[in-house]
Amino acid sequence: MAIIEKDAALVSRLRAELLAWYDNHGRDLPWRHGGRDPYRVWLSEVMLQQTTTAHAAPYYARFLELWPTVADLAAAADGEVMAQWAGLGYYARARRLLECARTVERDHAGRFPDSEAELLKLPGFGPYTAAAVAAIAFDRPANVVDGNIERIMARLYAIPTPLPAGRTFVREAAVRWVRDERAGDWPQALMDLANQICRPKSPLCLLCPLNAACDAFRDGKAESYPVKAAKVTKPRRYGVVFVVTDGVSVIVERREAKGLLGGMLGLPHTQWRAEPWQIDDVKPMFDLGYSDAGRYEHVFTHFALTQQVWIARVGSSAFADFLRHHNGWQALPLEHVKALPTVFTKALKSLLSLDHTPA
Ligand code: SF4
Repeated sequence: MAIIEKDAALVSRLRAELLAWYDNHGRDLPWRHGGRDPYRVWLSEVMLQQTTTAHAAPYYARFLELWPTVADLAAAADGEVMAQWAGLGYYARARRLLECARTVERDHAGRFPDSEAELLKLPGFGPYTAAAVAAIAFDRPANVVDGNIERIMARLYAIPTPLPAGRTFVREAAVRWVRDERAGDWPQALMDLANQICRPKSPLCLLCPLNAACDAFRDGKAESYPVKAAKVTKPRRYGVVFVVTDGVSVIVERREAKGLLGGMLGLPHTQWRAEPWQIDDVKPMFDLGYSDAGRYEHVFTHFALTQQVWIARVGSSAFADFLRHHNGWQALPLEHVKALPTVFTKALKSLLSLDHTPA
């Protein structure tokens, strides 16, 4: 398919109308209070990938309180940053966040480069983050396309190709609206339009400043775009997790630096494999008399996990004895277990009545 050009004068007029709408109706988000500080823009963009503004906001506030500048974050201990990130998911992103802060501090004298091309060279920067930081922090005319902007463009141009293949056309469409004027406000105005008007379900097309150029609205098919590809179900894996507690602490281990949840603290568990575990297959890490505490589901990016929980409640001297004889294991006080990745705090839910906010 080819993107059909819209009338240039119409695009310019509607662009100005959307920016005027944004001036009056834009959201009051915490990361819009810091001016155009590249550190804050970057931090919020990394946190907002794959999660909602409401979920990211308290993490953003906490990070800024602990590490108000990129220099502070660069100097932070890995373990502390990982612990503060817990609950946001995608821990590889947290590791790259630190790596990036240290690169900016070491190679760029603590200042983020101000062009999309240079930002793209930093650890953890993909095309989206580079474009978003270039636009929002440095007011560069970058083609910022996230899932929300994708939805608007797919509708404006009634793009029939399902995503992800349709992304080429979406990007081609989006760039036609990028201008030097208010370059940083433009993607934010689109994101707010997507949030308040061009919603996934029941878009409010009659209130939309772009409706005069919208092909999907004209055809009465706004909700049909973006066209969805047939759903692929994630493969399922199975595991058994071991909770050993003396009522004060639980046993945890530092995970390998590489791989899923690398470098984080976690509960000991079996391999996460394609076949369910039978009771006779599972060799508990230690002979402590476990009881079955049920099972739970957790969804990772690439697979869904069904995890069985075995709990051993032991006395304090047996617990201390056990720690003395097992190198690499450590005791984590129960009041700190919320810092563990969600896949493990779910295992402790029955023990602690933890509340789980979906990421
Ligand atoms: Fe979205 Fe409707 Fe506006 Fe088109 S007219 S961009 S479908 S809200």
